[in-house]
Amino acid sequence: MPYSPAQQALLEHYVKQILAAPVYDIAVRTPLQAAPALSDTLGNNVLLKREDLQPTFSFKIRGAYNKLVQLSDEQKSRGVITASAGNHAQGVALAARELGIAATIVMPSMTPELKVLGVRSRGAEALLHGESFPFALAHALQLAQQTGRTFVSPFDDPQVIAGQGTVAMEILRQHQGALDAIFIPVGGGGLIAGIAAYIKYLRPDIRIIGVESEHSACLQAAMVAGERVVLPCVGTFADGVAVAQIGEFGFEVCRFCVDEVVTVSNDELCAAIKNIYDDTRSITEPSGALAVAGIKRYVTRTGVRDQTFVAIDSGANINFDSLRHVAERAAVCGVTA
Ligand SMILES: *Cc1c(COP(=O)(O)O)cnc(C)c1O
Repeated sequence: MPYSPAQQALLEHYVKQILAAPVYDIAVRTPLQAAPALSDTLGNNVLLKREDLQPTFSFKIRGAYNKLVQLSDEQKSRGVITASAGNHAQGVALAARELGIAATIVMPSMTPELKVLGVRSRGAEALLHGESFPFALAHALQLAQQTGRTFVSPFDDPQVIAGQGTVAMEILRQHQGALDAIFIPVGGGGLIAGIAAYIKYLRPDIRIIGVESEHSACLQAAMVAGERVVLPCVGTFADGVAVAQIGEFGFEVCRFCVDEVVTVSNDELCAAIKNIYDDTRSITEPSGALAVAGIKRYVTRTGVRDQTFVAIDSGANINFDSLRHVAERAAVCGVTA
């Protein structure tokens, strides 16, 4: 075994939680789909795990549902609260409605109307508060204390991590052949921690590669420093991963399970959105395209050929208006892509 007994025990704990997570009450088993054009261009076999096809269009409902379903009856009756401007908000709102739990979601006051309506239309209460996410989060934590509602973290919670880890269980069942690496987008690290724990317990030979926006590379910073660091500023083009500090529970797993972290630029994300569109005719949000952009970077740098890679296509929640910008930048980047 490549790991210490304590590390092995941690992974085993997560694997058990993942195998028992009842996420399919609400989530779907998404396809693991070939990307023939991209594979051809890169000289490697690329498979896309289509988490953009979940209800709410991102994997976040897996973790949110796994957390909410395991609350005690008393906690359920008191309700839940979270802070989010994006995919976690939709996940919590849908999971709460399914389970008959009252949910309050604190969103920064500048949150686009579309996302506020997305929460309200699923029956959750949307509170607009604070000029940016950290202020909304502080308010949500304060409200949780005052009201006795349970706070649901978007990533820093073992049950959320276990819910996201069900993605890895599906990948190993869907693909029985050779698999060299899984590329995973990283925000607060819940998704990569869940996937890494499951994969490294069962198939330590498969490389786990995190992909971050170069404007929010908090896992890379933590791996280099050997501890969690707070980034001084964070870019929000890839809004699903705009997090300043990797989660505590996630980093506990990532520090020994993540083989490498790759960072990519916004232009590379735009080009990757186009690559995914060309192979699937589906639109991905910037965070959702991180893994494909990461594979392209990795192949260019290492020159590897004939390997099999999985990219997690993590979400599709993009404002239609932003596509103009994405298409422009993809055209610029496309020359070299
Ligand atoms: C939340 C999210 C991520 C990152 O997940 P973490 O668990 O925060 O690392 C990636 N892509 C999309 C689309 C997301 O919504």
